[in-house]
Amino acid sequence: MNTDSHGCPSRRPSPPQRGGEGDRAPAPHSLADKGCGSDALLAVRTDLGDCTRCKLSGGRTHLVFGVGNPAAEVMFVGEGPGADEDRQGEPFVGKAGQLLTKMIEAMGFGRGDVYIANVVKCRPPGNRNPEPDEIEACEPFLRAQIAAIGPKVIVALGKFAAQTLLRDGTPITRLRGRWARYGGVKLMPTFHPAYLLRSPEEKKKAWEDLQLVMKELGKQLPGR
Ligand code: URA
Repeated sequence: MNTDSHGCPSRRPSPPQRGGEGDRAPAPHSLADKGCGSDALLAVRTDLGDCTRCKLSGGRTHLVFGVGNPAAEVMFVGEGPGADEDRQGEPFVGKAGQLLTKMIEAMGFGRGDVYIANVVKCRPPGNRNPEPDEIEACEPFLRAQIAAIGPKVIVALGKFAAQTLLRDGTPITRLRGRWARYGGVKLMPTFHPAYLLRSPEEKKKAWEDLQLVMKELGKQLPGR
């Protein structure tokens, strides 16, 4: 597939079609699309462009837009890209990403069935938390991605994503496992996979949260 400088499928002019106007074939979806697998998502990515709306742009290697199914039922939202993600231009590809992939698979999905994004799309230096002006500049694009995808459920990964999206400073230990809303969409806060790598004893609670999501989506729970 041809990709443009954003790593998104390029809009090549449709070849002339016999019999008239010719429908444009839907963009085929694969992980290589880096999150632009529908016209609506491509429009968001095009609007974002070679973004310099905040100071994070100065330190990035890649803008990390998102990845996955453009019509996903469930969307996972983390904090912001780390070093691995900045290098590869894809969210959650490092150690925490490997655990997230296992969590997704435990829910009965593949990584390509869901959509994965972050609150901010460029790596904060030294992995510090994104600052309010950076969130303000970037969050409209996350909202636009959510509107383009139309997920039934958002899973907010970790304290930062949950507290930022919900505008609620309640500790993640109390936010997790309880349904909330972001825009019109049901949101389940849970622990960040990087935290679960440091505190594996908390994995059981995260799994309980993900089972609530599975139940909401009508997916079969293990052992039923
Ligand atoms: N942590 C995040 O919050 N997002 C990523 O993409 C990677 C690690």
